[in-house]
Amino acid sequence: MAPDSINTSGGEIAVNGRRYRLPRQPVVVVCIDGSEPGYIERAVEAGRAPWFGKVLTQGTSLLADCVVPSFTNPNNLSIVTGQPPAVHGICGNYFLDPDSGKEVMMNDPKFLRVETLFPAFQRAGCRIAVITAKDKLRGLLGKGLALGAGKACSFSSEKSDQATLAENGIEGVNALVGMKVPDVYSAGLSEFVFAAGVKLMERERPQIMYLSTTDYIQHKHAPGTPVANDFYAMMDGYMARLEAMGCTIVLTADHGMNAKFGADGKPDVIYLQDVFDGWLGTDKARVILPITDPYVVHHGALGSFAVVYLPAGTTAAEMAAKLKSMPGIEAALSKEEAAHRFELPADRLGDLVVVSTKHKVLGTSAERHDLSGLTEPLRSHGGVSEQKVPLLCNRRLVADAEQRPWRNFDAFDLALNLVA
Ligand SMILES: [Zn+2]
Repeated sequence: MAPDSINTSGGEIAVNGRRYRLPRQPVVVVCIDGSEPGYIERAVEAGRAPWFGKVLTQGTSLLADCVVPSFTNPNNLSIVTGQPPAVHGICGNYFLDPDSGKEVMMNDPKFLRVETLFPAFQRAGCRIAVITAKDKLRGLLGKGLALGAGKACSFSSEKSDQATLAENGIEGVNALVGMKVPDVYSAGLSEFVFAAGVKLMERERPQIMYLSTTDYIQHKHAPGTPVANDFYAMMDGYMARLEAMGCTIVLTADHGMNAKFGADGKPDVIYLQDVFDGWLGTDKARVILPITDPYVVHHGALGSFAVVYLPAGTTAAEMAAKLKSMPGIEAALSKEEAAHRFELPADRLGDLVVVSTKHKVLGTSAERHDLSGLTEPLRSHGGVSEQKVPLLCNRRLVADAEQRPWRNFDAFDLALNLVA
């Protein structure tokens, strides 16, 4: 594959080895963070989401696999590059940088190894708008865009008051949207994304728009619960307004979400650093949790995917065998096995990759997790058990669209190539 080659011919572009038709009407791709299958259906059944109800019956409703680790950053980057992390390089929110030996956030655009679709569509003459809830994704998603009024903008709800023409390609966002900066831990942070999307569509009619929310609600509220239904009802109204403006809308999720607590209501955790300290001695192995990010209040940095760096003298195979005999471990794979099975960049993984089962999470050491912010029983993600996500479109698949195992990173392919 020649990942960077761009050819424009016959109203098509090629990006990262996939071809995309140029949009005939505005295309809006929405990544609903943590939207486990069932959230939308329950809200429809409760009579709270008529637009979604129409999409489920008259549009396209597919189930897709997200990328494992089922975390936010790897999946958002897969959706906007059309490729798995083995190609784009972003395999966690957080990793051990082999160049520096330090544990760092993977937010820096320098870690992204290929171009996203956005600069390619911009060169083909499209106006682009990228709106995220949290600012942590903005740098990666906006990489390579020539930002400027009426050309392209990239901004977050979280830092909407700091948006400038130079940095974000837009200013005066709060006045445009008619909303102040929402709290970072709120449904309002995601509502702002949709409200801004509608206002921008009215004012500038970008041909390509990407909206990415936060999973604060999904971490705390299961499908069909009143707060979850409120969230999807809110979203429903904004989607209807985008559709009324003629947009093709594709919705998917970065990952699903499952309950991760025991009968006592407390998080059901395997503290892997403590396990390895017991086996090999204190701090001989190093456990890294790629879910780690600056906003841990709603999940306590507990997810279902971990990587482990092993000391000399131990092998991944022997440690994997020991782990696999423990209840709650779904997979323990060498770096090479994990890179192959999950399409990940081997040079950014530890020696061992560990995945826990549906209702278990992985931690480092018990004392290193602050769980005081968990006001509800833990719901989280990261594993294979959170891989199924919705892939919806408000248009029907064209008659000759081949059925295939769908991925969430087929979202732009669906929107541009496969629906009527
Ligand atoms: Zn997420």
